[in-house]
Amino acid sequence: MHAFKYHRAASLSEAATLAGKGEAKLLAGGQSLVQAMKLRLASPSDLVDLGTLKELQGIKSDGRTVTVGAMTRHAEVERSAEVKKAIPALAALAGMIGDRQVRAMGTCGGSIANSDPAADYPAAVLALNATITTNKGRYEADKFFTGLYETALKPGEIITSVSFQVPKRAAYMKFKNPASRFAIVGVFVADFGGSVRVAVTGAGPCVFRQADMEKALAAKFAPESAAGVKQKKEGLNTDLHASAEYRAHLVSVMAKRAVEAALK
Ligand SMILES: Cc1cc2nc3c(=O)[nH]c(=O)nc-3n(C[C@H](O)[C@H](O)[C@H](O)COP(=O)(O)OP(=O)(O)OC[C@H]3O[C@@H](n4cnc5c(N)ncnc54)[C@H](O)[C@@H]3O)c2cc1C
Repeated sequence: MHAFKYHRAASLSEAATLAGKGEAKLLAGGQSLVQAMKLRLASPSDLVDLGTLKELQGIKSDGRTVTVGAMTRHAEVERSAEVKKAIPALAALAGMIGDRQVRAMGTCGGSIANSDPAADYPAAVLALNATITTNKGRYEADKFFTGLYETALKPGEIITSVSFQVPKRAAYMKFKNPASRFAIVGVFVADFGGSVRVAVTGAGPCVFRQADMEKALAAKFAPESAAGVKQKKEGLNTDLHASAEYRAHLVSVMAKRAVEAALK
């Protein structure tokens, strides 16, 4: 690992100032960034720890939205009574991330900012039409994820919270890598009563919506509607875990299972 300077930010404005310097990087739970530094894929000059900023922590629910602070750990979302009541699928998704240690340290904001192609949270952000709030403004979910490990965030911009819309019913299903538990393919289906949003993670360079499945499910919210839509393999990932063709097949299978779960 390269040498770096460590800063514990005392306020959001101090974090923003420090993050704007040189090759500084924000540090949340370190569950992706520290691994990247160990592998020398990232070599920041400075690490700006967001861990002490109270305004980035916690969960609020008002019946229409559930707002999760950027520094809220996956384990808190998994166990939150408010999340379980308003969006049980979101609590379940948080509980499927990695192992206990990863869930104890990893954060909602870090996962979304990282835009790992196999991460779970981006599927919830897109399917639940979330709004991402930062120290500089707001982003709609549809405009946030822009590519492989890429988002619309500007250098040094800090996510402060993510507000998820409460659906009528929803579920997330993933076919996981048995070692890391990252999604080989994960599908989040959210029915808003009149409109349906389907987000796919793990399959492509970044999370995306499956428009044909959304139309089929809006016409009839049933497992066969999802299973009847075939995902094209073009543009999907091929790696040692699965071919693009297999991933395309898994999209319909996971979507069908998600609809079945949402209907229970
Ligand atoms: C063994 C293992 C298994 C895992 N399995 C899964 C899995 O099954 N599913 C899954 O989804 N994930 C999985 N993860 C990743 C995990 O969910 C992490 O929470 C996630 O990668 C982000 O880590 P973090 O919150 O610690 O952020 P960090 O690693 O600290 O930061 C990640 C990136 O986000 C930036 N960042 C952090 N916070 C902010 C912010 N508030 N605003 C702007 N930028 C910010 C950082 O600068 C950095 O570039 C796994 C990780 C490990 C190590």
